[in-house]
Amino acid sequence: MLPEIEHLLVIQDRDRKIREIDQELVNIPKKEEEIRNRLEDDQATFDGIKGELTQNEIAMKNLELDIETRRDSIGKLKVQQYETKKNEEFRKMGGEIGRYEAEIIATEDRELELMELAEEIKVRMKSAAEDRDDSQTMVDDDIANLKIAMENMKKERVEFVTNRSGYAEKVDEDLLDTYARLFKAKDGWAVVGLIDGACQGCHMRVTKSTELDVRNENVVTHCQNCGRILYWWTDEADKVVSRCE
Ligand SMILES: [Zn+2]
Repeated sequence: MLPEIEHLLVIQDRDRKIREIDQELVNIPKKEEEIRNRLEDDQATFDGIKGELTQNEIAMKNLELDIETRRDSIGKLKVQQYETKKNEEFRKMGGEIGRYEAEIIATEDRELELMELAEEIKVRMKSAAEDRDDSQTMVDDDIANLKIAMENMKKERVEFVTNRSGYAEKVDEDLLDTYARLFKAKDGWAVVGLIDGACQGCHMRVTKSTELDVRNENVVTHCQNCGRILYWWTDEADKVVSRCE
């Protein structure tokens, strides 16, 4: 294999790995957001229950006010009853007092129901708070792991870049430019094998003379269809990249 092809194959491998890392790194903020979003459901559940408790407290206060109002009315009626001299009026007021007293008892019963409901809501709220705290722990762990993965990827990237430049120094500048242009235009496959006379980039058959040039390995040869740099593919050629790890 031509030494420059061998070098380009290693460079291409490193470039693909660098590109993969860059794509991963770009996605990290999104991944972090997805992890944090997992907390929102738990927080919303907790907030919902807390809201129920607040509503229940308001309802209880209103019942208290109802009871107070009726007690006031009873007090006033009793004074009026004491002052009146008419039997009919006295009886009528007595009836009203009785009605208010019955309403107070019913309201107190309702108040007791709401107090029991408050206890039940508090139990649910505690459990929701625990679920939320558990999720928070998991989210913190996942984010910590994501940060570690990110740091490792950055280190790996530096290694690939260093390793790549070592090989790039050995390749003629014009060829390196051509390679870079092809790498960009051909989605990361600038240098491809020729198998059974077909370019592995565009899968078209090349001419006999191109095939011969590739096989002879004297000059850098391009696919006349897609322009990619071709090499004579063998099992051994496949191992070039892994030998240079
Ligand atoms: Zn081609």
